[in-house]
Amino acid sequence: MTFHTLNELIAEGVRGRYILVRSDLNVPLDGSTVTDDGRIKASLPVLTKLTDAGARVLVTAHLGRPKGTPEEKYSLKPAASRLAELAEFKVSLADDTVGSSAKEHASALQDGEVLVLENVRFDSRETSKDDAERAAFADELVALTGDNGAFVDDAFGAVHRKHASVYDVATRLPSFQGDLVHTEVEVLRKLTADTQRPYVVVLGGSKVSDKLAVIDNLIGKADTILVGGGMLFTFLAAVGHKVAGSLLEEDQIPVVQDYLKRAADAGTEFVVPTDIVVASKFAADADHETVPADGIEGSSFGTQGIGLDIGPDSAAAFADRIKGARTVFWNGPMGVFEFEAFSGGTRAVAQALTEADAFTVVGGGDSAAAVRTLGFSDDQFGHISTGGGASLEYLEGKDLPGLTVLDR
Ligand code: ADP
Ligand code: MG
Repeated sequence: MTFHTLNELIAEGVRGRYILVRSDLNVPLDGSTVTDDGRIKASLPVLTKLTDAGARVLVTAHLGRPKGTPEEKYSLKPAASRLAELAEFKVSLADDTVGSSAKEHASALQDGEVLVLENVRFDSRETSKDDAERAAFADELVALTGDNGAFVDDAFGAVHRKHASVYDVATRLPSFQGDLVHTEVEVLRKLTADTQRPYVVVLGGSKVSDKLAVIDNLIGKADTILVGGGMLFTFLAAVGHKVAGSLLEEDQIPVVQDYLKRAADAGTEFVVPTDIVVASKFAADADHETVPADGIEGSSFGTQGIGLDIGPDSAAAFADRIKGARTVFWNGPMGVFEFEAFSGGTRAVAQALTEADAFTVVGGGDSAAAVRTLGFSDDQFGHISTGGGASLEYLEGKDLPGLTVLDR
């Protein structure tokens, strides 16, 4: 695929032009406090380049999953305020996405300023499956750019979505690939072609079926797949172990059994934990104990126990595999790292990544937040991706609508 780059757009000249930029400002919030501003920081360079060159920048972004109408808790206000604190340029926020506020703010925008439009998902047409509905919304977004606009997609975290602000606007305006999307794609390419071996993939997190899909495509490509997080219990169940009250997707058991069989033939090794930290309940202060992975129901909590982390033996075994790798991709925390008592596995994996003599990539919103809240810094890793779902779909070998639409 070939893309027009942001530098080409800047070379064309952007002073005084309205440039629509799709950014990824989908940050975790605690009330109105941004708890991890990684995506905002990652969005800054493109906005800075454009404003330095005199563009009038209209930023579209989503936050969370509102149901197609405005909801205060999904407002981009906290994200826009944080952006304003970090930025050298002036930032304002419209009260709506394509309504009277957006229009007024847009017409008042000066060269070198940024206007953030409210959450695009406050309009149900953004994510509509109906092409005509999305098109109508895209037309209204594009209308804000006047008659000499252009579009820059810099929201890697959304490139797997065929949404109006990602896909349809790109069919209506001269379109360019933002630097963040460019970097992310370059990194992912290294994980799919001429990958340095051993190539170790670490998978965890809570969205079991989302994560299982990527395994399909990694069998035969990765040398080793380390399985942690909520998904590990479906793996334990697949080899006949009981998992008590742990996260389990029963309907995926045959799928996992098939993976295990195929992996053996394809030379990919699955490493499943041998010990588990089991808790009495899902809480920070829950009683807990470490038990063998084939004896979860033998814990003091019996069939009520919930596995919330991989045990220390498993963490050590995972760390060894990681340290012997030349390439590591990690998506999904090993346990419920938000609770100190269940953060050991995630911490051990993060630590091993920082010590490995390898190209290391961390993908996934919670995984990125985990390494930061556990006290690691971004530069200890080869790359921290801003896109969880997008990077997984890329590794699954799927077509990403937000990328193909930029291809020429
Ligand atoms: P990412 O955003 O990095 O892709 P996910 O969203 O899939 O990761 O999953 C992150 C969540 O998974 C974390 O909030 C963590 O608490 C949860 N998690 C990890 N292990 C378990 C487990 N054993 N049981 C329940 N939740 C888990
Ligand atoms: Mg997540």
